[in-house]
Amino acid sequence: MTKDEVAKLIELVAGRLNAGRGTWLPTPTRPEPPGDPTPGNLPTWAGAAQSLTDIAPLRREAGFPKHRPEYAAIVAASRQAAAARGPSPLPSGSSAGAARTATQRTPREVSIGVSNRHVHLSQRDFEVLFGKGKALSVQRIISQPGQFAAAESVTAVGPKGKLESVRIVGPARGATQLEVSPADCKALGIDAPVSVSGKLEKSAGGVTLEGPAGKVTLSGGVIVAQRHLHVATADGRKLGVADGDKVAIECGPAGRRATLHDVIVRLGPSHKTELHLDLDEANAAGVKTGDKALIVARSGAASAGKKRPLMTERDVAALAARGEKISPRGPYLLTPAARDRAKALGIWTGD
Ligand SMILES: [Zn+2]
Repeated sequence: MTKDEVAKLIELVAGRLNAGRGTWLPTPTRPEPPGDPTPGNLPTWAGAAQSLTDIAPLRREAGFPKHRPEYAAIVAASRQAAAARGPSPLPSGSSAGAARTATQRTPREVSIGVSNRHVHLSQRDFEVLFGKGKALSVQRIISQPGQFAAAESVTAVGPKGKLESVRIVGPARGATQLEVSPADCKALGIDAPVSVSGKLEKSAGGVTLEGPAGKVTLSGGVIVAQRHLHVATADGRKLGVADGDKVAIECGPAGRRATLHDVIVRLGPSHKTELHLDLDEANAAGVKTGDKALIVARSGAASAGKKRPLMTERDVAALAARGEKISPRGPYLLTPAARDRAKALGIWTGD
């Protein structure tokens, strides 16, 4: 077969294959995208017009994993935090190990109650100040169950000055306790210690209470109440706190935002969940009663026994470098890889 014959044969075959179509090889055509893009707007199929959710739509109904926050929500929260308009979505005050589980959970919100200076009176002192046979009259029920602000008030007189209309909080207690802020201490000219309410071993005296019927000079019982978080028993688990824990809370608007440490947790059936700050603390952070605060870190006696810090391979290597041993009964949890590493390094004291 000559070259010419081959060329003719190719032409013939091509003609047959292509019968009725005009060209031998069809020109590939792109399918038209659906819709008609309006001039000026990017067509819906253009990559630049799409958000992540267009490409991978979120299907909440169809078993959407609850632990994965929506992308849009994360972006919004981060931007808000960057603009200091909202609480940071990130855990703060985090430290590796002990606080890890606490900080990795979502921040927890509690209401703030601001306590102005007030006094709890013993029945004996009340009778001296107001007269025998008198009783406190309820002006307002306050947030903690069973307690009320009385209509009656007293004047507190210190070496330097006095505070008038100091509210009495009822009912009567076993011992008289005057709770003031550091600024009040300055005004009175006393130096009262920060103390947990009810624990008066560490308290100041030298203040005289004056009522309509008489005076009582206190030899003790004047304190600056330690910032504390009342927690109802039912809320303890939700907030991840136990009685006696210390937590750090974040509160306040932009410009005054503050993290307050050493907030002592008082958990029990007689408590309603609320963060109590004195007026100085509240003013410093720019908050008032009813505002919200976030628990951002937790440490403390009560939770320390239950939660052991997690030790990783890297921690093990660091201990080995310091020449320390690791016991299977140590106050930490080891990852399986960390245990293997400890064995390999010869610092594992178990079998
Ligand atoms: Zn309180």
